[in-house]
Amino acid sequence: MTTPDATPISRLQGIGMTSERTRRRMVERLRERGITDEPVLDVLFRVPRHWFVDEALAHRTYDDVSLPIGYGQTLSNSYTVARMTSLLRESLLDDAALAQVRRPVRLGQVLEIGTGSGYQTSVLAHLVRSLHTVERIRSLQQKARRRCREQRLDNIRFHLSDGHWGLPEQAPFQGILCTAAPETVPQALLDQLSPDGGTLIIPVGPGADQRLLRVQRFGDEWQQEDIEPVYFVPLVAGQDKAAGRKP
Ligand code: SAH
Repeated sequence: MTTPDATPISRLQGIGMTSERTRRRMVERLRERGITDEPVLDVLFRVPRHWFVDEALAHRTYDDVSLPIGYGQTLSNSYTVARMTSLLRESLLDDAALAQVRRPVRLGQVLEIGTGSGYQTSVLAHLVRSLHTVERIRSLQQKARRRCREQRLDNIRFHLSDGHWGLPEQAPFQGILCTAAPETVPQALLDQLSPDGGTLIIPVGPGADQRLLRVQRFGDEWQQEDIEPVYFVPLVAGQDKAAGRKP
């Protein structure tokens, strides 16, 4: 039996190193590292992470490592995906809403910058009402779109653009999650947060000095908090320049 794009079903469901047991172990490890947001853990359990990398790497997908996705880009480790997603939720939902596990309360309109493999995109799509995602490399965007379609995720719109600009035509956003690191927080992203607590989760700075920041907007004031060290690829200026290059 095959899916519309002829991916064997055994690959989609996961066998051996990508099986349900392996995924459950990944979730247990995330819990041990302090992730307590049950809907996030549930979504990480359900979204088949091994779909998002080359088959040759599938056996490593559930280890807590980042993995290459081509064009010098990487899929973040599962802890970072879980951490950023739950930071966004805890900034925007009250305790009663966070406690809804069976039918999680969804965030409103969210912008993701750096679609990459589409893994973080898929995780977010389960937890928000409407998701816009921006990528600058066309072929990564195309693969990500196909993977999201295979999962029947229909609340995502894909944009090919430079994430430094955000997505002014769709603003404001309740949340913005950036998965590549600029040198400083782009002003456009601050401006596109909704004024009633809109939240940006973003890595900033070069290499070893990179920090994960949370910025929340209240009217014309922005509150910034330094969360922890992280390591993301740089947010590169310019749209789609690398599109024609080999990975
Ligand atoms: N969230 C991704 C990982 C992203 S890696 C995942 O789950 O797989 C960072 C991504 O940001 C890469 O795909 C890279 O091409 C993209 N990127 C880098 N600079 C960008 C920019 N200026 N605008 C949009 N996307 C950018």
